[in-house]
Amino acid sequence: MSQLSPARSVDLVGVATPIAVRELAPWALFVALFAVLALYFVGAEQGATSLLAGDTVHEWVHDGRHLLGFPCH
Ligand SMILES: [Zn+2]
Repeated sequence: MSQLSPARSVDLVGVATPIAVRELAPWALFVALFAVLALYFVGAEQGATSLLAGDTVHEWVHDGRHLLGFPCH
């Protein structure tokens, strides 16, 4: 039967490595832009504004519009 030494038990627990803000910033910006784009397509595209012709985008996100309370029909 093996016993864990104190150093080994520390390895099993793991140590959280902090992430620098400058490493996290590009990902945060990407997620923010993606969220704004998704919010635009769910909330405004082919409703108040329209970048794409037709109603395909509106039909794809129609349930999301109602779920989030955007005016629809
Ligand atoms: Zn609707």
